[in-house]
Amino acid sequence: MKCNACPRQCNAERTETENKHGFCQMPLLPRVARSALHFWEEPCISGKNGSGTIFFSGCSLGCVYCQNAEISHRKAGFDISIHQLTDLFRDLEKQGAENINLVNPTHFSWAISEALKEYKPKIPIVWNSGGYDSVEILKQFDGFIDVFLMDLKYLSAERAKKYSGAGDYPDVVKKALMECYRQKPVCVIDDNGIMKSGLIVRHLILPQGTKEAMNCFEWVKNNLRNACFSMMSQYVPYYQAERFAELNRKITKREYEKVINYILSSDFDNVFLQERSSADQSFIPDFSAEKNKILCKQ
Ligand code: SF4
Repeated sequence: MKCNACPRQCNAERTETENKHGFCQMPLLPRVARSALHFWEEPCISGKNGSGTIFFSGCSLGCVYCQNAEISHRKAGFDISIHQLTDLFRDLEKQGAENINLVNPTHFSWAISEALKEYKPKIPIVWNSGGYDSVEILKQFDGFIDVFLMDLKYLSAERAKKYSGAGDYPDVVKKALMECYRQKPVCVIDDNGIMKSGLIVRHLILPQGTKEAMNCFEWVKNNLRNACFSMMSQYVPYYQAERFAELNRKITKREYEKVINYILSSDFDNVFLQERSSADQSFIPDFSAEKNKILCKQ
């Protein structure tokens, strides 16, 4: 098929096993780098038992500082069938996962949709995306996704182009978030503190990015009043960050406090704030094949 599944609209020929010319270079069938319980998401996602996280390889964005570059850009992972993807759902469910957390699902939307039609787990399904999603695709998942965990990386087209190679990102993500909010207008959290339904919007503070961070917060506050906002401070220079001098460091205490104080002084309460001490490469999951091949049951 000619693929226009994400806003890149490559129109590239994409088969179950090949995609030579599309931006993401991923075949139609899923490539998965890791499937495991994960404890470093927001508390309402990780819970006590961990989030059943499936990390998909490849990406339709091109962030120079990508914290998951091994899988997003270097494309490490295992090619699996749709049925094997449902096996991963079942395995994670059996392990007691609080939810099935689909990390970077955008370019595998077709395969995920087929898998969910074959087997819909009884725990919440989380769409954990960089936010570069078309409204059309999100609408196809209406009724299948319980929690949207979406990035809002930039509202500045200039920064989106410079750091992620997607100048249209701000327009795309605003429309995508409005669609997620239409589907999930309220956040439902159960007695164990687990989100069963809702929208969480994440923003990672970049070095020299305080203005952007505050703009993103303001936009969520004004447009997605019942959603949750998650301010992330775990940025570490990684992948090709050194191409830009300003990205080649962690955020400073001053930058962190400026954003946090701004958020705390607002009347918007649905906020998660990450500690600055989370900015450490040890928080990046291990995507090495040795650690993960068993989980994908080749
Ligand atoms: S999913 Fe991949 S091939 Fe399809 S439009 Fe997006 S980047 Fe291009």
